[in-house]
Amino acid sequence: MSRLLIIGPPGAGKGTQAARLSARLDVPAVSTGDIFRDNVRQGTELGMLAKSYMDRGEYVPDSVTDDLVKDRLSAADATGGFLLDGYPRTIAQVRTLDDYLAERGESLDAVIQLTADREETVQRLLRRAKQQGRSDDTEDVIRRRLQVYAEQTAPLIDLFAGRGVLVSVDGLGSIEDVTDRIVGALEDLGIAAPAA
Ligand code: AMP
Repeated sequence: MSRLLIIGPPGAGKGTQAARLSARLDVPAVSTGDIFRDNVRQGTELGMLAKSYMDRGEYVPDSVTDDLVKDRLSAADATGGFLLDGYPRTIAQVRTLDDYLAERGESLDAVIQLTADREETVQRLLRRAKQQGRSDDTEDVIRRRLQVYAEQTAPLIDLFAGRGVLVSVDGLGSIEDVTDRIVGALEDLGIAAPAA
């Protein structure tokens, strides 16, 4: 059973790695960004609200995001473990998640920090903008997202390091190499992928 979080700046490759790790470790990947984007596509009220923040590179308010994650983690497929991608992103979200997991008698087993050079991540995001056409991948919004990350999310790294659950992995290199690095680092922590 593993309860994991992948954290890192926009463009570090969290989404790509989360999808691969989800398959390797047999836990569902829970991405708040993906849930918001699905809602935008479906034109829901939540989607319209989220879009007004996402398009500016700002965080969607905790009051909205927290409930969404609690609902998702309450689903049957997440009772045996999960890989969170993009949540928690603020100190307040960490507290909410801690309280929610504590009620279940659980806590995060490991936090995977994906590191990446700032200019490299900007270039990656600009490439992705061309390929996927994400409305928050324009240069101005990318710079704002990096700034918001530095202000609100980067401080979480020290917090998790203090808890002894942080593993730092270099996000540069091929997609396969980065996945192998993460799986290796998790194994060192005693979190092993199920036998294939
Ligand atoms: P991501 O796909 O993780 O880069 O998220 C895309 C956007 O969704 C972010 O820039 C935020 O606007 C919003 N978002 C995703 N997760 C969160 C969160 N935990 N808290 C607030 N906003 C979020």
